[in-house]
Amino acid sequence: MRAELIFTGTELLLGQTLNTNAQYLGRNLSNLGIEVTLHTTVGDDWDRMAAVFRQALGRSDIIITTGGLGPTSDDLTKETIAEVLGLPMVLHEESLASIKQYFIVRNNEMPASNIKQAYFPKGAEVLPNPCGTAPGAIIKTDNKKIVIILPGPPWELEAIYENSLLPFLSSLPVRGDVTRFTTFKLTGIREENVQELLNGLDGFSNPEISYTASPGEVHVRISAHAKTSAEADGLIKPLAGEVKRRLKPYIFAIDNEKIENVIGELLKQKKLSIAVAESCTAGLVESRLCDIPGCSNYLKGGIVCYSRMAKEKILNIDSEILEKHGAVSEWAAVSMAQNVRRLLDADLGLAVTGEAGPTTSESKPIGLVYIALATPGGTICREYKMPGRRTAIRQGAVNASFKMIRHYLQGI
Ligand code: ATP
Ligand code: MG
Repeated sequence: MRAELIFTGTELLLGQTLNTNAQYLGRNLSNLGIEVTLHTTVGDDWDRMAAVFRQALGRSDIIITTGGLGPTSDDLTKETIAEVLGLPMVLHEESLASIKQYFIVRNNEMPASNIKQAYFPKGAEVLPNPCGTAPGAIIKTDNKKIVIILPGPPWELEAIYENSLLPFLSSLPVRGDVTRFTTFKLTGIREENVQELLNGLDGFSNPEISYTASPGEVHVRISAHAKTSAEADGLIKPLAGEVKRRLKPYIFAIDNEKIENVIGELLKQKKLSIAVAESCTAGLVESRLCDIPGCSNYLKGGIVCYSRMAKEKILNIDSEILEKHGAVSEWAAVSMAQNVRRLLDADLGLAVTGEAGPTTSESKPIGLVYIALATPGGTICREYKMPGRRTAIRQGAVNASFKMIRHYLQGI
């Protein structure tokens, strides 16, 4: 069963918005064994949209569109599709009632322009939108094509997918192989060194190992395809076990798990608090910890001590010894971790100091980073040689900090 995706929105063409709907739908459809054969992005233009949709109808079994379901005049996806299919637009009373309700609970009256969102091509099955005012729809055409219309905002599209589209797509009879993945996220290592460590394991097609690098991290993805999810998982499992064994010191997260969530849960379970002192990451670690609702249970606070003066004046680091060792040194990291732990009265004190480049102030190599964790049982410190440029070095230092906290909390 071939699926084709049409993304609408001039902002996508102009590069103002990244097409994350493509990623989300591609990933989820391949999980269901639905083969995505083509993506098209088209601006908010009636004629071009109609032409693209007509072509899609001629060659694909499932056509999914995203965007253009809003109340404004440049939102024209449903109307164009209805015209091409020769269907009149009809009012869907239930949708109108729920759009009105959406405004009532927000203490607003529904603007007249929103009525448009309750009209659908005749015969469409409406997919309610739990997060917004634009419902999606499924249209089954006379010649057995399936047209699925979804709103553009990713969180609305994802909610509709989870609630009503996934059950519909799962029930379709003719599906091909299922593709499953598992991804290991690594930090503190170059892509080519990862490949060396996996020597002998990669280069096969099913299961297959592939690599992607982004600032501060390398992802190793193992994918497999088979008739059922269980079979595909069975192909992945032994290989994933071996990959994990070889790469263990570098893994900071697996699949979509967010390491800051994992750490937050562990800190809460163990009733431990944390404080951070950041030099080269200048608040990135604390900001990520703070992304987690409820972090006030364990996050005492943080100090950005970028300059030497800040390290001396705010963190009380001894200036003479700091001068001797340098701000990018094991001694500095350990002192920063111990002092922030004491000053903010936390169970754990984490410190990051490093040379992010592009110029170097202490004639230390660019990418040299020290991370220290002061704990009730003593202080751990590790030296890293982070690959890449400034952004990659700083992001790598954040990931490595989280890995150190996680490994300590899990006793690894
Ligand atoms: P709205 O009611 O908000 O107008 P809509 O269904 O008409 O919704 P659009 O107007 O196309 O959708 O887009 C709304 C928002 O969703 C915009 O912020 C847009 O950048 C974002 N968006 C649209 N398409 C995509 C996409 N493919 N990937 C990521 N974001 C998208
Ligand atoms: Mg819109």
